[in-house]
Amino acid sequence: MTTARVLVLSENHNLFQELEVLLPKDYIAEALNDFDALPAALQQGNVALLIVDLLNEKIAKRVDRMRADIGGLPLAAIATDQLSISQVNGLLSLPAVAVLEYPFNPDATQRALAEALGRRQGLGYRKQLQDNLDAANRRLNQRLQELNTIYTISKSVASTLNLDEVLTQVIETSINLTQAEEGFILLRERDKLYLRVAKNKTEAIAQRFNIEATDNIAWQVIRSGRPTMLHRDTKIATGYLVRSLLYVPLMAPGRGAVGVLGVVNLLQDLSFTEHHLFTLSSLADYSAIAVENARLFTAVEAQRYRLSSILEHAAEAIMVVDTENHLLLWSKAAAEVFALQPSMQGQPIETVLQHIGLRELFQIKREESPDAGIHLQHSEIELEDERVFNAQLSSIDKVGRVAIMQNITHLKELDRLKSEFVSTVSHDLRTPLTTVQGYIELLDRVGTLTDLQKSFIQKALNSLHHITMLISDLLDIGRIEAGYDLEMQPCRMDEVIKQTVDEYLIHAEREEITLSYELPDAPLYVLGNRNRLRQVLQNLVSNAIKYNRDGGWVKIVGEQDEKHVIIEVQDSGFGIPIEEQPKIFDRFYRVQSQETEKIHGTGLGLAIVKSVIEKHKGRIWVKSKVGEGSVFSFLVPKYL
Ligand code: ADP
Repeated sequence: MTTARVLVLSENHNLFQELEVLLPKDYIAEALNDFDALPAALQQGNVALLIVDLLNEKIAKRVDRMRADIGGLPLAAIATDQLSISQVNGLLSLPAVAVLEYPFNPDATQRALAEALGRRQGLGYRKQLQDNLDAANRRLNQRLQELNTIYTISKSVASTLNLDEVLTQVIETSINLTQAEEGFILLRERDKLYLRVAKNKTEAIAQRFNIEATDNIAWQVIRSGRPTMLHRDTKIATGYLVRSLLYVPLMAPGRGAVGVLGVVNLLQDLSFTEHHLFTLSSLADYSAIAVENARLFTAVEAQRYRLSSILEHAAEAIMVVDTENHLLLWSKAAAEVFALQPSMQGQPIETVLQHIGLRELFQIKREESPDAGIHLQHSEIELEDERVFNAQLSSIDKVGRVAIMQNITHLKELDRLKSEFVSTVSHDLRTPLTTVQGYIELLDRVGTLTDLQKSFIQKALNSLHHITMLISDLLDIGRIEAGYDLEMQPCRMDEVIKQTVDEYLIHAEREEITLSYELPDAPLYVLGNRNRLRQVLQNLVSNAIKYNRDGGWVKIVGEQDEKHVIIEVQDSGFGIPIEEQPKIFDRFYRVQSQETEKIHGTGLGLAIVKSVIEKHKGRIWVKSKVGEGSVFSFLVPKYL
């Protein structure tokens, strides 16, 4: 360290010599005779104190004009005891750090000099502190600016789905913050890397990244998920030379590295720092979020497009409701059939649907539907213009329910024609069959029959019985569907149940089946056709006995809620496989199995049951497990 200088501006050489010996040891005194010498002396630096001789009038007069040269230098004045410190300050136009009284008193002067120089030291320390503080402030400001830019980018990520916009912003910021010459983002698509955005790229880089990028360092960063920072001249890719580079991976949560954010210096010899690495990592995180958002958005858009094209083009009328029965979406066909408007989205289904039948279908609570794994409900919806739809309501987990309705008007018409034909034919068959039966029964009156003849006659009668049953069922179903014999009046289901049980008690005993019922004390009133409702119970009870095992049981349970009377026919029989359950209500459908092989039936019983119940505005369903038994449940509106 060079010795600190004390400049003495005085024309009096004796005075200078006197003063020189009084200075503390570490300082060297330099005499200046004239103000003009001051700037050059100051320029040499390391001046600890400037002492001005105010005894000299010439100097005293010029001193205030030299303020600019003196700058922040500590100033001491030589004065007589006639001048007070404030007068001295006035003369100097600057506060003096010390006033040295002339003639010098060695002790006092020495103390004043030491004090003035000490204070300067203190000032120096303070200045250093101040400098440090300023530097820290600058750094803090810079960091704040960086954070602010990162924050701006984070806001962009959250507010825009334009990936290019966000990534370009990221690149610009990366270059600004690192002072790099070039920056770019490479994105991975399966096993390829593509340049997505670049800034300041030279032609060489543009070529290098052209469409598909081959950058080994980038691949290394992607595979390891770690950044790379190189300071030496490095050859990358196709022999291209960079002086320093910094690559950070774009890490998407759950998907690993989806790309690389890179900055490079090609010409300037400027290294990247840990601080740059830290900042770029934050930017890379935001870029990864933006890339991920864009990917998810594209995926969702594609899904949405797919769904809306399905709904647009589906021939079926499709309606989806949420778990609270609010309308979510519907197909174009549904909009046409049920007059649905866009404004109805989110509205409760009962306020937007005019059609009572469809409204009722949606009102079925899940617990009412058969819960054999598939939540499915069927219903036929008839419109005023006579179009008929087959509606299927099924549950969608965590979404709600969907109703798919197919136009079956033409099938219904065919069905009607077929029923008409069948009932005409059946009717025409019945008369000759009765005649045939009559004559067969009369055969034993015309002569003695052999045992073989008797057994043939019995077989013929059995078959006749079967055909007659079939015809009577067919005629029944025709009549029920056409709405004949269906006069409705209040009737008590509890009585119908008791009557049916009485009727079948002996038959059940013969088959070794226990038949019982369970009814509430209150009567179960419905508005219905007593004969047909009895037929429903007869068919269900006879099936429950027929498809049962020896020693089994059948139980009829009747109950009611606010709106319905609900009847269950339970049995301990063979059960029905789940895949057969939806079909058993179809006409002529019979389950083919070893157990049912020898049991006679027409396959029309349950079709009749279903028709009758539907004519009563009710519903029927089955719950069954093979080997355990079945429960046929139906409900009809209560008579209030
Ligand atoms: P069927 O005249 O054959 O009894 P249904 O229409 O009454 O005709 O029944 C259709 C089919 O459903 C039957 O063939 C039988 O396989 C099955 N089924 C009906 N009820 C029961 C039951 N309680 N237990 C087991 N299977 C039954």
